[in-house]
Amino acid sequence: MPHILITNDDGYQAPALLALARALRPLGQVTVFAPDHNWSAAGHTKTMHKPLRVTQSSLPDGTPLYITTGTPSDCVGLAMLGIIPQPLDMVVSGINQGSNMGHDITYSGTVAAAMEAAVYGLPAIAASQDEKEDQKGDLDFAANIVAELARYLLGGGWTPNSLLNVNFPALPPHQVRGIQVTRLGKRIYRDVLIKRLDPKGRPYYWIGGDPPAGEPEEGTDIGALALGYVSVTPLNLDMTDEAQLAKLRQWGLQWKMS
Ligand code: MN
Repeated sequence: MPHILITNDDGYQAPALLALARALRPLGQVTVFAPDHNWSAAGHTKTMHKPLRVTQSSLPDGTPLYITTGTPSDCVGLAMLGIIPQPLDMVVSGINQGSNMGHDITYSGTVAAAMEAAVYGLPAIAASQDEKEDQKGDLDFAANIVAELARYLLGGGWTPNSLLNVNFPALPPHQVRGIQVTRLGKRIYRDVLIKRLDPKGRPYYWIGGDPPAGEPEEGTDIGALALGYVSVTPLNLDMTDEAQLAKLRQWGLQWKMS
């Protein structure tokens, strides 16, 4: 029976953990390992300069829950390095509150935890639920689709170094049009620098602004959600740029001081 680890970057109190545990339990043994607070946009962080604490608890349905002071990717590392005695077969990260598409994947703690799993040689899924002010998705609907994808991965449909990045549109289930297999799209960030003064008159800064927009190009994750589809994007740890590699080889670089 496969052993599936669930983690996230929203923290151990996020309701999506319970939805995922419920949906994944028919596939095997389920353990949750989550951070003690929200780490959204923490990226792929390994804690190396301070000690990590881990406490044991359980979800309301009895699923074993480990809570750590570490980051989302630390959760996977701690689990793999021996905190969880039973070997793991897969990691599912999420379901994040807010989409992680295009360049978001470089900031996302949700995706980072799945990347950490791939580093350890495990299949992994990062799942995120898009949010809009007036429209909401359904966590159980999303969790069931994640479980369906997990079933494929565990059944041999996985290649090493790869992970799936799944995004759900902010729509009720009956309005979701289907699933599209996509590539990463292009985010448009609308960050602005907000400067304020502390009580001593010294400046401090916030990175503020509106939520990111994106180019809804066909075939991309952003394009799929714009049309009301669930997006499934395969990512790979090998970030080598093949086009630039070919160019670099033509530069004739060599080790020569002159
Ligand atoms: Mn988050």
